[in-house]
Amino acid sequence: MIQVYKFGGASVKDAEGVKNLAAIIALNRDKFLLIVVSAMGKMTNALEKLTDAYVVQSDTIHLLFDEIKAYHEQILDDLFSEKSHPVFDEIANAFIEIDWILEDEPHPDYDFNYDQIVSVGELVSTKIVSAYLNYSGLKNEWIDARGYIHTDNTYREGQVDWDKTCKEINDKLPFVLQNKMVVTQGFIGGTSENFTTTLGREGSDYTAAIFASCLKAGSVTIWKDVPGVLNADPKLFKETYKYDALPYSEALEMTYYGATVIHPKTIKPLQNAKIPLLVKPFLTPAESGTIINETANLSIDIPAIIVKKDQLLISFSTKDFSFITEDHLSDIFKAFADAHIKINLMQVSALSFSVCFDGDETRFKKLSKSLDTDFKIKYNTGLELITIRHFKRDLIEKLSSNRTILMEQFSRNTAQLVLK
Ligand code: ASP
Ligand code: MG
Repeated sequence: MIQVYKFGGASVKDAEGVKNLAAIIALNRDKFLLIVVSAMGKMTNALEKLTDAYVVQSDTIHLLFDEIKAYHEQILDDLFSEKSHPVFDEIANAFIEIDWILEDEPHPDYDFNYDQIVSVGELVSTKIVSAYLNYSGLKNEWIDARGYIHTDNTYREGQVDWDKTCKEINDKLPFVLQNKMVVTQGFIGGTSENFTTTLGREGSDYTAAIFASCLKAGSVTIWKDVPGVLNADPKLFKETYKYDALPYSEALEMTYYGATVIHPKTIKPLQNAKIPLLVKPFLTPAESGTIINETANLSIDIPAIIVKKDQLLISFSTKDFSFITEDHLSDIFKAFADAHIKINLMQVSALSFSVCFDGDETRFKKLSKSLDTDFKIKYNTGLELITIRHFKRDLIEKLSSNRTILMEQFSRNTAQLVLK
């Protein structure tokens, strides 16, 4: 049975990381493996900066691009002692394609520019990983995910055409996987006009789930820099607890509320196809990590705490102080959908409607522009949204002490607070 492995940026942030990846693959070389890799280290952030510089035609374009190239060249240099290895040219060529884009005028659609540029992070990282695995005797084939993951042209949030994608995958890949491993990119897809799309930040997990689901894989393993799925982010909380097992439903809820350990779109296709998802530490691969499947029991004694930073809380009221009606709400929701803003929390009262969402400036501007003629708008930025699954009162008090609660909402299992 085919197994899908996914390695994120942190696992391949330098030559040591790539070597560690190769060691994990070597231990599992007898399996039929499809390996999904994302961009190296923080390269997606760096490429976002490059895109921003390009669209405003800033003179930092070349500086930013040189840094990105140098970062990859360093890794190549550390990995391949044989400097005539063809991978050096392959990487240089991939960057030349970006050079061509950068020399042209930016396209009027920011999101389109973003996808054409940012996707190079995944293309070069997989070329490096694939070449290094082959170099180490781990025979594999590099494939271009854009020829398999078919999406519409919603740039930066490509919507997958599942039928076309699964057909392409099943027509070609099982045969390849019989003979060797396959290495491909996470996060990126292609449109029917052969333009590149991306699936949303951290979307490589989702890519792994798509391949797994179409191939009816035996499992998906996400290799992480944490021991498994924890009940809170160890960067924010001193004490954390690792779940040995989680049911799909709970993992789905946790990612919905913003747990960043797994991309939110990952769980559903795996749950539908009953494919277990393992989250394991890449530094200690023998550890069991967390298994997410249908039969796992959840221990609800441990509350899960999910923190979303950089939140924007906006409130709308009518200009004549009349009640907020369903017609108003319908206009507001339409504006959110048009601006591609995902609502994290909302509350309606007699005279106002408040919404908390991720503070993306471009999308926020688009939203307020479309609504400020009809509504009075007030907003707060830089807030934190804390969600607690299986909450206890004393924990809520602890988390909100010395802070202002701007909005709160409780259901039976979930408490949510917007804090300043
Ligand atoms: N490289 C992309 C990102 O950082 C996708 C991923 O890592 O999953 O968002
Ligand atoms: Mg990444």
